[in-house]
Amino acid sequence: MKNQNVPIRTCIGCRSKFPQKTLIRFVCSTEKRLQIEELKKLPGRGAYLCKSKECIEKAFKEPKRINTLLHIQLSSSVINEFKQAILDKEVIADG
Ligand SMILES: [Zn+2]
Repeated sequence: MKNQNVPIRTCIGCRSKFPQKTLIRFVCSTEKRLQIEELKKLPGRGAYLCKSKECIEKAFKEPKRINTLLHIQLSSSVINEFKQAILDKEVIADG
């Protein structure tokens, strides 16, 4: 049996497709702040990521890509800080 109703999204790190609920969604809010979406839906342009260090590192390797993707212009230090926040929050450290 196939469930046709599962929304599928693309991870911006590995560019593979996964069910939306297994991915991390982050958005750029109207105040131009990057935020991880948790239980509540957040408005704004968003992107999806696997809960994997590799994908997160890859996605944020070029801050320009994040800016292009979300139609924003944040400095690399702001973007790197946000990357660290995602890593701290979503990825279980190896010890
Ligand atoms: Zn991925």
